[in-house]
Amino acid sequence: MAVDVKLDDLYREVILDHYRDPRHHEPVKDPDVEELGYNPLCGDEITVQIKCDKKNCIYRIGVFGKGCSICMASGSILSELINGKPIKNATELVKTMKDLMHGRTVKDLEALGDLEALEGVKKFPVRIKCALLPWTTLESAVSKVKEKK
Ligand code: ZN
Repeated sequence: MAVDVKLDDLYREVILDHYRDPRHHEPVKDPDVEELGYNPLCGDEITVQIKCDKKNCIYRIGVFGKGCSICMASGSILSELINGKPIKNATELVKTMKDLMHGRTVKDLEALGDLEALEGVKKFPVRIKCALLPWTTLESAVSKVKEKK
């Protein structure tokens, strides 16, 4: 029991760190795609911008907006994981994040860096939408990139 409490504290620290100091939290110059996400339940608003290179890599991502700590931290964690990655990996990560939030088994969670810190959110159904918003917004952005090609 005591161990669980400690882990929760650790995760809270990771989430707060991302909330206070969000990564890639500025607009991208000449983005290929910009997508807005809104979660009316909480009032979270997020913008995801991506710029891709010719090899279908997201070489620059911007995630910014206004929202609760879970949403903002999730967006920051997303940006760290996605920046510089091929679009294919981004699609896989979105799926992994959805699996995580819906309590499905996720392989190699430890390899996903700070994403693991969001696992505890699944215990709070009202916050799942907050955590998923940046990811579903990224998903729409990625499908727009694919349409363009
Ligand atoms: Zn929220």
